[in-house]
Amino acid sequence: MKNKEQSMLLIRQLLENIGEDVSRAGLVDTPKRCINMYEELLSKTGVDPKDEINTFFESDNDEPILVKDIQFYSLCEHHMIPFYGVCHIAYVPNNKKITGLSKLARLVESASRRLQIQEDMTMMIASALEETLNPKGVYVLIEAEHMCMAMRGIKKIGTKTVTSKKTGIFLKDIDLVRDIEYKIKL
Ligand SMILES: [Zn+2]
Repeated sequence: MKNKEQSMLLIRQLLENIGEDVSRAGLVDTPKRCINMYEELLSKTGVDPKDEINTFFESDNDEPILVKDIQFYSLCEHHMIPFYGVCHIAYVPNNKKITGLSKLARLVESASRRLQIQEDMTMMIASALEETLNPKGVYVLIEAEHMCMAMRGIKKIGTKTVTSKKTGIFLKDIDLVRDIEYKIKL
């Protein structure tokens, strides 16, 4: 993060504007903790998520690969409060080209550590796989709960938002889509 000192002063100012006594014991180090937290939660701002897909292998198995229930936490760009849940990624390899399974989890991690909306995060993950693996198809599905819907506004706790992005073969082969969804147990 740029200008950390200045950012801490801004948080301090925000607390004052809320009506807080910024000199009380519990709040003295809050600006510093808060900025360190944002630095961690938004650490992938400006980083291209496809940088995580940097290891490739060959496999004769051309069946779909599904990595499901990849947990993530992100911050919505509208309210800067968390949305979190799980991401499921399936792809069908092309020309025997696959990547490491952990790279898919790293991709989700990279895509989530920035301010955004769930819809764009879904697209970002699908595009990163398209560009690096050129697979026969990708199916990315994200299920998440948004704190901006639970804690404020409409206050609906437990509501899940499901977004998806399909490319290539997943747009045409409905049996393949059903097979993946059965494995995810949607
Ligand atoms: Zn929001």
